[in-house]
Amino acid sequence: MQKSISKWLSGDAATGIVMKRRKQRLHAHCPCCGEDDEHLLHVLICSADAAVDFRQPLLTDLNNWLIDDEDTHPDIADYLLTSLTSWFEDPFGTEPVILSTIPSIRQAASQQSQEIGWYAFLCGFIVEPLVTCQQT
Ligand SMILES: [Zn+2]
Repeated sequence: MQKSISKWLSGDAATGIVMKRRKQRLHAHCPCCGEDDEHLLHVLICSADAAVDFRQPLLTDLNNWLIDDEDTHPDIADYLLTSLTSWFEDPFGTEPVILSTIPSIRQAASQQSQEIGWYAFLCGFIVEPLVTCQQT
């Protein structure tokens, strides 16, 4: 897993662009949907049925891990799953309404969507109010 994360963060993951540069593919198209120049962001947001079907159980696993293994505050887990699901479905769409009554979660939601974004979140950049909320 650590090897995959370091490859991902260094931009060396086996995307279409990287595979073509390595001369391991003749083209850089996404193998799922055929989009030109498959890059890291596209791997996350590909809308092909196979990609959606692959992502959905991972979101369920993430939710289970957050709640069962990491004792994540339920409002934080709900916020993350709701927001990530929305981002995967429509990366350039409107952010979902966050219903939490906890002010730091609403503050985190605003910062995450307007200042950092979900791609950065998936690369490990988590806004401070969310971290503080979990730690208190
Ligand atoms: Zn694709």
